[in-house]
Amino acid sequence: MHNDNSRRQFLTRLGIGALVATGAAALAACGKGGGGAPTACTDPSGGSKPQRDALKYVDNAADQTKRCDICIQYVAGEGCGTCKIFNNTAVAPAGTCDSFAKKS
Ligand code: SF4
Repeated sequence: MHNDNSRRQFLTRLGIGALVATGAAALAACGKGGGGAPTACTDPSGGSKPQRDALKYVDNAADQTKRCDICIQYVAGEGCGTCKIFNNTAVAPAGTCDSFAKKS
């Protein structure tokens, strides 16, 4: 009986630990976790890579007037946002690409 309870408690703690680790990994994938601005917002599936390459997406725009966070295709999120034309996958607020279109 005691062993069942101990095993149950261990598995519960293991499950909680796995959830915490998953959340930390998700934040790290967005480049947020060090407390600073996101530096890399990636598409975890890699499915939008051809579009990103074709439109020359970068995480840090050289021209601050063409940042993702002021683009009509950008949807804000925690750390990273998402881009509608990249299948709603993560992009950096400070990123940009050749399809930039300023929000009105
Ligand atoms: S379309 Fe806009 S939001 Fe999407 S990557 Fe290009 S600049 Fe960023």
